Amino acid sequence: MRFSKLLVPTTKETPNDATLASHIYLIRGGFIQSVGGSGLYNFLPLGKKVLDKVRAVVKDELDKAGCQEVSLSFVTPAALWQESGRFEKYGKELLRFKDRKNNDFILGPTHEEMMVNLVRQTVKSYKQLPLNLYQINLKFRDEIRPRFGLMRGREFLMKDGYSFHASSEDMKREFDLMEETYKKIFTRLGLEFRVVEADSGAIGGSGSKEFMVLADSGEDTIVVCDSCEYGANIEAAVRKEKPSDTEAPEAVFSKFHTPDTSSIEALRSFFHVDPYYFVKTVAKRALYDEGKSEIILFALRGSDELQEVKACNAVGANDLVDATEEELVAVGLVPGYMGPTTAPEDVKVVLDSNLKEASSMICGANEKDYHLVGNSFVGVEADYYDLVAVQEGDLCACCGEPMRYTKGIEAGHIFQLGTQYSEPLGCNFLDENGKAQPMVMGTYGIGVSRLLAAIIEQNHDDKGCIWTKESAPFDLQIMISNIKDEEQVALGEKLYEAMLAKGVDVLLDDRKDRFGAKMKDFELLGVPHAVVIGKKLSEGSVEFIARDGLVKEEISSDTILSLLTERF
Ligand code: ATP
Ligand code: MG
Repeated sequence: MRFSKLLVPTTKETPNDATLASHIYLIRGGFIQSVGGSGLYNFLPLGKKVLDKVRAVVKDELDKAGCQEVSLSFVTPAALWQESGRFEKYGKELLRFKDRKNNDFILGPTHEEMMVNLVRQTVKSYKQLPLNLYQINLKFRDEIRPRFGLMRGREFLMKDGYSFHASSEDMKREFDLMEETYKKIFTRLGLEFRVVEADSGAIGGSGSKEFMVLADSGEDTIVVCDSCEYGANIEAAVRKEKPSDTEAPEAVFSKFHTPDTSSIEALRSFFHVDPYYFVKTVAKRALYDEGKSEIILFALRGSDELQEVKACNAVGANDLVDATEEELVAVGLVPGYMGPTTAPEDVKVVLDSNLKEASSMICGANEKDYHLVGNSFVGVEADYYDLVAVQEGDLCACCGEPMRYTKGIEAGHIFQLGTQYSEPLGCNFLDENGKAQPMVMGTYGIGVSRLLAAIIEQNHDDKGCIWTKESAPFDLQIMISNIKDEEQVALGEKLYEAMLAKGVDVLLDDRKDRFGAKMKDFELLGVPHAVVIGKKLSEGSVEFIARDGLVKEEISSDTILSLLTERF
């Protein structure tokens, strides 16, 4: 490709709303263009090229693993989502609309229902299973906060795959195969990543893993162990049991006057007791379908923090939001002095599993300036849930070594779904005995457009993008420094033709611009290698530059062709 013919509107201007390097450089480099500034983007020629390269890697590895590509209608009849029950449940991210005949439709944020519908009409027998179908297609999610460019768009490109099996064992085999396949994809794309245990979110199912591209700018906190393989999203992370190193405070059960002790810190200075022996009671408003909601108390040890996603899952809510003091008072709670044992009867209380069999505990009396000491949960029958947010330094449940936090960008997510969709949608097969059974499913996603942002988050410097080998818009850039210099032009054209003939994807910068501007564009666009044909050609040399680190080598103009032939 000749630069002079290419539509690459590079700019020095940083977009107003951009804070991440990937967002800034993808816009400044003319890869993408924002449409109306709300999570919608046009892909310009270079952006489309990178997207296609990433997509090709994804497709290649999936096809090698035996998956088959299809393409599902983006507009989805709401009836399918009503059958699965998600039409109501999915919330405001789901864009719902009507056609001229007043029929309801949605724009697919994910395609379980559509794919199940395809399969239930075409697959009838165990002999046709297993099957793994995928598409690389647009998704629309009306995200509450679209931001960071391609990282969290409203319209974005996803690879979504769905597998169908006659048994759970076979589904698990495929799940493991997909994990291996995803590792190959992310490795080929040159990414540093980690596979972590994950929460299953709105898709549902159990046993899910996320593929996290490690980057300080990542929105997800992940807990990792450096001594073993363990890694988990904070939403799903577990730890080894965490005892206190101080003795339990001995006290008989009684009510204690504790003025001005509405925080764990104030209680600690009052009692001089390790917060491990306090009950922390966190009130939240849980939101359910059809606008229903209720105040719920989550109780855990004072030394622990509540993990909201775990708490939300424990009560099967769609979301948890903070409750105001007025709302608490209205249901008979005393803010600052709430406790699980003293809450009004109609307020639901959820206990953390670390409180199971706990004794010598101090908790709120649900009365201003009073606490109860000597509380015991020994023998208390209740459903206990893991509600705790693992902290840095907590010990690994697998190997006992301290764990740490790191940040990641969720680039892929694989789920063991089971029969969650096949049952309501009647996606059945006849087994060997002629008996109808629901198919067992897995589902597997990759954020293809988000990967462009993730690659740049991990690979950039203060000048611009540094694309990895398999994601780069071009393999090589040849820069003719002065287009009026016939000798420079002749060599540039010769190298360009030779590389094209070899099948190398090469960009020839043949523009009339100043050399400085061309160099700036090379740095911004991030093609991995360049040959600069400049003034020194008259002395018989050219420069070979690696974009990563901007490492320069002086090469004789007689040998540059053979060097390129050898390297590309
Ligand atoms: P997140 O937690 O980041 O919102 P998710 O859990 O909702 O993501 P999935 O439903 O698992 O995402 O979708 C599969 C993949 O699609 C994700 O792993 C991610 O890479 C990508 N993805 C999800 N939402 C977006 C978005 N708004 N913009 C770009 N890519 C996205
Ligand atoms: Mg996810």
